[in-house]
Amino acid sequence: MADLSKNDVSKFLSRRSFLTHTSCFGAYYALAQLVPLPALGETLGASVNADSRVSQTPLVDKGFAVVRKIGNGLYATISDPSKGATTLCNGGFLVGKDAAMLLEGFTTTGGAAFQMEALRMVTQVPVKGALDTHYHFDHSMGNSYYGANGVPLWAHANVARRIVENYSPLQGADKAAMLAPFEKAVKDAKNDTEKAHAQSDLNAVTTVYSLSNATVLALPNHPVDPSKPTTVDLGGLTAIIEHLPGHSGTDMIVRVPEQNVVYTGDLLFNGWYPVCFDEKATISGWRATLAKFAAMDKETIFVPGHGQLCGQEGIATLREVFDDISAQAEKMFHAGVPVAEAQQRYVVPDKFKNFPVFAWGFTISPAIAKLYGEWQSK
Ligand SMILES: [Zn+2]
Repeated sequence: MADLSKNDVSKFLSRRSFLTHTSCFGAYYALAQLVPLPALGETLGASVNADSRVSQTPLVDKGFAVVRKIGNGLYATISDPSKGATTLCNGGFLVGKDAAMLLEGFTTTGGAAFQMEALRMVTQVPVKGALDTHYHFDHSMGNSYYGANGVPLWAHANVARRIVENYSPLQGADKAAMLAPFEKAVKDAKNDTEKAHAQSDLNAVTTVYSLSNATVLALPNHPVDPSKPTTVDLGGLTAIIEHLPGHSGTDMIVRVPEQNVVYTGDLLFNGWYPVCFDEKATISGWRATLAKFAAMDKETIFVPGHGQLCGQEGIATLREVFDDISAQAEKMFHAGVPVAEAQQRYVVPDKFKNFPVFAWGFTISPAIAKLYGEWQSK
């Protein structure tokens, strides 16, 4: 297992010579080059597109994100990273008779402020809390806006620790020393494909370094117990916060069972390659979570962590992506291809060619390393 993750970004980042302990992120520099998010009607399954719960007219549209009503007291914030990184991830809010709940701290305080203003367009009820669905930078770096405005910050009990472990070491760190191994990987690449992979990783790490140094980190002060579901009563609207495995080890979903709406956080990337680099990401766990989503009501509306609003077809597509990565990796595994080579050799099939890949070292490459690990430990 020693060479399992030679090309794995989290391994690079955990070298104590230049960082104490880091395995952060997805990437956003790369996202600036993305094709714009498909329009609502282009991606929604026929049933959800025609769904009367989803308002065709946005509550607010700032380009970088659109807020839309998707149910009774339920709103989704859907980001389009090609139009700016103010929010980057998706979010939303839930509004009951007595209280409201916000989802996500986003990448910047501007993102959190934007969503709070959207909430105030529809209600003046007190905000019970803002939930980070997990600790990653694009969901948590705008947290200080909530702190400054007296909004309790909710998250999986391990989120505060993981924000500190992953992003504090980047603050004030020597940039040249930090980027050196990633620059070396670009220089040492054996061919154009490997060079493009390495360059995408360098871009991502550079971005997270910059963001970390431009951000006042704010930690959740209201830990949510991951061992059992938490019921939140907002007054005539009941939400359930629940931990599921897969993406980061700190993932919380928010379900509104009475309306068949699920805010998945990054356990769902709709029309994107999934970000799998996290040291606590588990491919088998993630696939089990997706199987759980697939077993939910066929009328369920999913608000993914990234990508357009969707119905069950979004779940089915991400399962296909995992199936494809797994099938290609398994062939190489059985043929004795070393993991480092397999990580480079995966080919994006035609049907997924428009799917954004954050950065190779945060998505496909670690997924293959983790799959190899799971097979080797059998
Ligand atoms: Zn994430």
